[in-house]
Amino acid sequence: MDFNLSKEQLMIQQMAREFAEKHIEPVAEQIDRENKIPDEIIQGLAELDLFGIPYPEEYGGADGGYDGYVLAMEQIARVSGGVAMTLSAHCLALSAISVFGTEDQKKKFMTPCCKGEKIASFAFTEPATGSDPKQLTTTAVKDGDYYILNGTKRFISNANWPGVIVVFAVDSETNKPTGFLVDKWCDGYSISEPWDKMGMHGGQLLDVYLKDVKVPAENVLAGPGMGYPILQLGISFGKVGVSSTALGGILAAYEEGLRYSKEKMHRDKPITKFQSIQLKIADMAIKYEAARWLTYRLGMLANNVKDPRQFAKEAALTKTFVCDTMVEVARISMDIHGSYGLMNDYKVARIYRDAIIGPQIEGVADMQKMIVAGVTLAD
Ligand SMILES: Cc1cc2nc3c(=O)[nH]c(=O)nc-3n(C[C@H](O)[C@H](O)[C@H](O)COP(=O)(O)OP(=O)(O)OC[C@H]3O[C@@H](n4cnc5c(N)ncnc54)[C@H](O)[C@@H]3O)c2cc1C
Repeated sequence: MDFNLSKEQLMIQQMAREFAEKHIEPVAEQIDRENKIPDEIIQGLAELDLFGIPYPEEYGGADGGYDGYVLAMEQIARVSGGVAMTLSAHCLALSAISVFGTEDQKKKFMTPCCKGEKIASFAFTEPATGSDPKQLTTTAVKDGDYYILNGTKRFISNANWPGVIVVFAVDSETNKPTGFLVDKWCDGYSISEPWDKMGMHGGQLLDVYLKDVKVPAENVLAGPGMGYPILQLGISFGKVGVSSTALGGILAAYEEGLRYSKEKMHRDKPITKFQSIQLKIADMAIKYEAARWLTYRLGMLANNVKDPRQFAKEAALTKTFVCDTMVEVARISMDIHGSYGLMNDYKVARIYRDAIIGPQIEGVADMQKMIVAGVTLAD
């Protein structure tokens, strides 16, 4: 067991930290205010291969592994949860294609996305459900060598960008959920206005309307009726991104609380003189370290998944702990700030708004516990 980062891991971490501090940090407030990531940031992320860190070079990726992905995401999320969310949702789709796609599908759909020329989406959620695949209502009717897709997908990240979208629909032959690789902005594809969500701004969330979208049968992912395994494993990989995003948020909340406690004076001394503040600082440090090693471990596990069920358990428990911990640490940091923490002029208010998103996405917190209990009890 070695808890030291390798030379390559340190390089990825440092590269992401430098880019985040130099380029994203100066516009982080603007991204939050305008709910839009400037084009220069997207280009910069692409130039550094940050859209394809864990994927093989043959598909345009950086071959940095999920361990490298976690380290980079933490640093990006430390300055902007919205930018990290965008990358996380993109990688959720790419990981599903990377595991379940054919060689041709990977070359065609992953390559432009790994290079950052396009941004991927993953469309499971519908107005009726975000948790239960049996309630999917989007249909895919076989018509010769094509499928015709109809339905509405809700809360879909990155649906406004061109690129591949992995759409889950019930196909007419198996009557089961099936994954389809669809080009966004093809005929019959349209989107809503962005949802006005309370945090993670910049990462846009839209509804997707599919009206008689014609998809070649060769774009079925892993075969008709294979939607469940794609969802189980794909979303587990997605939790690596969501956990890393929350980890970066924990670090940001911790650093903001620490900085404020050293600057805020009471009777000419910083409030760190109060034992109550010292206890809060200790709590933040403890929670950050616990979340950090759990998330790094998940990155290492994602590099070599042997048993999808066990990996689903590890991803679910990590995601639950780290996302809940971000809410707790953001709250502690706000308490250190007193009323200033409630003001939108202070970064910690943004971090708190970002924090409360995590427990609800890629499977709500209670569903994660059901996965953990289910796998544990079955063993
Ligand atoms: C920032 C953000 C980004 C997102 N990006 C995407 C995306 O890219 N793609 C995508 O497909 N979706 C995306 N979503 C949607 C998100 O994944 C879902 O909203 C989420 O999984 C929860 O689904 P729901 O809102 O329909 O809740 P529901 O499934 O309706 O759950 C509501 C409540 O009921 C409980 N519940 C549900 N089922 C059960 C059960 N069987 N047993 C016990 N309790 C249960 C839940 O725990 C929860 O408390 C995103 C959402 C957000 C906020």
